Amino acid sequence: RVKENGKNDYLLHSGDMDHVALHKLTIQHEMRRALLNQEFALFYQPQYDLASGQIVGMEALIRWFHPERGLVPPGDFIPAAEESGIIVPLGDWVIEEACRQNKEWQNQGMPFIPVSVNLSMRQFSQRNLTGKVSDILEQTGLDPRYLELEITESMTMDVDRASQCLKELTDLGVNISIDDFGTGYSSFHYLKNLPIARLKIDRSFVRDIQQDPNDAAIVAAIIAMAHNLQLQVIAEGVETEDQVHFLRSHRCDEMQGYFGSPPLPSDGVLALLREKLNRPALPVHSYIRAS
Ligand code: C2E
Ligand code: MG
Ligand code: MG
Ligand code: MG
Repeated sequence: RVKENGKNDYLLHSGDMDHVALHKLTIQHEMRRALLNQEFALFYQPQYDLASGQIVGMEALIRWFHPERGLVPPGDFIPAAEESGIIVPLGDWVIEEACRQNKEWQNQGMPFIPVSVNLSMRQFSQRNLTGKVSDILEQTGLDPRYLELEITESMTMDVDRASQCLKELTDLGVNISIDDFGTGYSSFHYLKNLPIARLKIDRSFVRDIQQDPNDAAIVAAIIAMAHNLQLQVIAEGVETEDQVHFLRSHRCDEMQGYFGSPPLPSDGVLALLREKLNRPALPVHSYIRAS
């Protein structure tokens, strides 16, 4: 929209700014209310061992059940939560809820399966993060080995700080993974020096693995590199049986994606855990495909 009149242009522009600012204020206000009203919930997406088809992990993914707007996906509010700082109390709640739920399943006699929680930059920058995580583990009674924290490559840019923070967290006994691996700032330096347990290959590389030889080469290289560095490696966004075959043939350890299961509400996960308890592992391709 090109305007001849400079004044109008300014007015329009300032109107847009107000609108953006207002929208931000509204969403911040709504998120605070939502936390108090318990409108947030965690879904869990199972992670499967590619060799055995067993569920070996699950990722906690936040959902917002907004009273008027219905289910709001995290992509629509996590950036605003991050920008405003609300991500800190919200993120605390996520860690606490994931640990509480995991411990509850363990207490119910379900198989012990680690849960992964996404950390945002703001949370990672808090000086008392380790203290908080440690308190939550103590309060919920969850053994730290059943908690994994996911960070992204960009959080490791300040290697000294990241290494200090990750050392404290891994000293507690929790595991660290690198989410969306391959999409951010990547340095071999941090891979070599930081206490990381596994890499999660971003789904953008997995999607066209069958059609795009470059993606196939990248995925194969990430798997090989991870193994040479003694890291576990999991592919994200796996949707087809062909992708499973590719990943298996390249000895990828695990997979997560709609082919195995979409993220599920807690009762859905409980049903899967009961199933796991009651029967031997099935090959991964026999799990239901998401619609
Ligand atoms: P992420 O951590 O990379 O999570 C994986 C996302 O991929 C999830 O989206 C999941 O539903 C989706 N996904 C899983 N399998 C497939 C598949 O086969 N195909 C496709 N197309 N997508 C698949 P979701 O739940 O919408 O979350 C989006 C992002 O929001 C997450 O990406 C994460 O970065 C962020 N997020 C979610 N929950 C939290 C949270 O509690 N805290 C923070 N800080 N960020 C969160
Ligand atoms: Mg993640
Ligand atoms: Mg992510
Ligand atoms: Mg990811």
